[in-house]
Amino acid sequence: MDDRVVSVALPLPLQAAFSYRVPEGLPFPERGSRVLVPFGARRVIGVVTGTGSSVPGLKDVADVVDETPLILPPLLDLARWVSEHYLAPPGECYRLVLPPSGVRASRALARLAADPGPTPDDPVVNALRAGPLALSTLARRLRRDPTAHLLRLRRQGVVAVDQDLRAGGFRYLRIASLTGLSVRPGGSAQAEILDRLAKAGGRLDVPGLVRGRSTLRGALSRLVAGGAVAVAEERDMRSPEILEGRKAVPLDLSREQAAALGPLREAVASRAFVPFLLHGITGSGKTELYFRIVEQALETDRGSIVLVPEIALTPLLVRAAADRFGATVAVTHSELSAGERHDQWWRIREGESRVVIGARSAVFAPVADLGAIVVDEEHEASYKQEESPRYHGRDVAVMRARLEGAVAVLGSATPSVESHANALSGKYRRLVLSSRVGLQGLPRVEIVDRRAILKSGGDPILTPPLVEALEECLARGEQAILLLNRRGYATSLLCRECGQQAACPNCSVSLTVHRGGATTECHYCGHLSKAPSACAFCRGEYLRLTGFGTERVIEAVQAAFPKARVARLDRDVARRRGAVAGVLAGFEAGQTDILIGTQMIAKGHDFPRVTLVGVVDADVGLGLPDFRAAERTFQLLTQVAGRAGRGDLPGEVVLQSHLPDHYALRLACGQDYEAFFNHEIEFRRTMGYPPAAALVNVIVRSADAGKGAREAEALAQALRQGAVGKYRVLGPARAPLARLRREHRHQILLKGRRGAMRDAVRRALVERYGEVRWPGVAVDVDPVSVM
Ligand SMILES: [Zn+2]
Ligand SMILES: [Zn+2]
Repeated sequence: MDDRVVSVALPLPLQAAFSYRVPEGLPFPERGSRVLVPFGARRVIGVVTGTGSSVPGLKDVADVVDETPLILPPLLDLARWVSEHYLAPPGECYRLVLPPSGVRASRALARLAADPGPTPDDPVVNALRAGPLALSTLARRLRRDPTAHLLRLRRQGVVAVDQDLRAGGFRYLRIASLTGLSVRPGGSAQAEILDRLAKAGGRLDVPGLVRGRSTLRGALSRLVAGGAVAVAEERDMRSPEILEGRKAVPLDLSREQAAALGPLREAVASRAFVPFLLHGITGSGKTELYFRIVEQALETDRGSIVLVPEIALTPLLVRAAADRFGATVAVTHSELSAGERHDQWWRIREGESRVVIGARSAVFAPVADLGAIVVDEEHEASYKQEESPRYHGRDVAVMRARLEGAVAVLGSATPSVESHANALSGKYRRLVLSSRVGLQGLPRVEIVDRRAILKSGGDPILTPPLVEALEECLARGEQAILLLNRRGYATSLLCRECGQQAACPNCSVSLTVHRGGATTECHYCGHLSKAPSACAFCRGEYLRLTGFGTERVIEAVQAAFPKARVARLDRDVARRRGAVAGVLAGFEAGQTDILIGTQMIAKGHDFPRVTLVGVVDADVGLGLPDFRAAERTFQLLTQVAGRAGRGDLPGEVVLQSHLPDHYALRLACGQDYEAFFNHEIEFRRTMGYPPAAALVNVIVRSADAGKGAREAEALAQALRQGAVGKYRVLGPARAPLARLRREHRHQILLKGRRGAMRDAVRRALVERYGEVRWPGVAVDVDPVSVM
């Protein structure tokens, strides 16, 4: 066996890892090091995952990027687990643990290592005589790929390549500082330099120091030569402004919080993997417990990760963490610039940041020696990544804690049915916070039957009880939240002559009407167009808007309460950078009376002057063909009801519904989680849905409906072999979303034992498509939704 063969995961949607030989002359890369390898006509950077298998015709590693492994061993194990658990391409999974842009090769710099002497006309040497060049620049000058040529020169010791990619992404500042050596300034320019430095506290960046007077540059170099001033390059860390906080003191704990903290502290101290489910009703003070264990981990020099569903929607938690832990906090989220993201990654990797707060992907942050990992609002669907690799951030967090001997805390006011079942079976330890911090009890809830209101010709958006509650709330000078989990103006455009709805040209869904009726948008593929003036089917010109979204609610509220100050928050508003923070801050500051929005307003905000929550249509989502419809509705309604009455004012909730007797609604009103769980788990057992059985969803996509159906049928047949006693195969059938982005979708749903289903799917796909690529097939292990 050749011991110079490594297995490399490439950042490509390929199911296999590839073996390469490490040529003599290159350092042997350890597991977790990045290497540059040829792949087809390209060169790509991959991660060494172990030893490879020696077969004839192996290609050579072109270069070793990291001589000491960059990726921490537990994260390598985690990436492999993600790949195996979710049947996801290994390279895509390893990419999750790499630095941002860590798979780009162009940053490497070549320089002359030794004086080449009068080497006869070597083009690379000649190009480098003037100084180091990036490989990409070198390639452009030579008009070809210089890698092989460079490798030869490197073996001869003539050229060195600095492959430290991280250097390329940093921004450096030249900082001048007083050395303490006292000198007599030689002239007014030197005196001014010393004066400016002294006034700035002894340190200043060079451009700032010489600003406004060109003679200062020369004076500075003379002072440096004389030893009174030193100039050094320092890395400039771009950190998001959210982090400018100060140290805050821990809050006092309630009796209940203190009781829950005991076992958490014990677990952190034990340095063993212990998973907890922290079930705390809204306003019960879960965040303070998170912070206490983060603090405890820090005391023993261990790091922590706090996952939140969406950073922009949890400004309070981020701010509180920054106040509490100061500069050691790193925040990773989608609004960061590429530079900020890069710097945050390296701050964490180098141990400068020990507390990481972020959405889903922060579960892969390179925190060394992890002590605790927290998943706030663990039931949120946004933890699931809906494109490959289709991982669930919560489940990956628990696995990471297991691999690192850390404590995992899953927190929620409305735990997912799976997590609660895990707590009941003893897989997770359960901690309960059942009372609100502060004086107020739970809000009073009124359900309004919209059927009766509609029959009597009343307004379907603002029913009389809701109008009355709003009037009183405004008269008291308090604030209200109105939830409608549906953005846009109208839900569809209906032809009165033929009864057809305006439909997306790419998907099998109707178009949503936006901007007061001016435009239409597909909420699945984003297709945007001017609202049609005639029916596409019969050319009829009588089109009617049906259904309503958040835009219409704003209109209705403004008509009914012309003096009220209203604001909207949904995905349309959130497209503008900073808009979410602006709307939330305006509401928090009392510049808005009524905040209207989708589920974005139901999350962990804490607005002490909100005393009324109106749910305009509580049934949105209940009608979806998804086994989680009731769970999602229960969670959303419980969450939004929890926004009412959080300060010292009592809260009220008005819930409008066509299905006032539905168990998800009734039990959300009473905030009765146990009763909801018992009802829901019965349904899951009867129907064979998680947690009673695992699911694997296989979606076959094809531009041609017939071809897609045939592929799906063949796969389903292969999957049925050997299914007996292990899993059931449902379908193939057209997916509930039968056409998406011009592709027809057929779905095969497997229910049963996860391991057996995964093996069977892999076997069937390898048999049909081979080891490397499974074109047109998406495999979703543990889907959160089967639409
Ligand atoms: Zn028509
Ligand atoms: Zn569409």
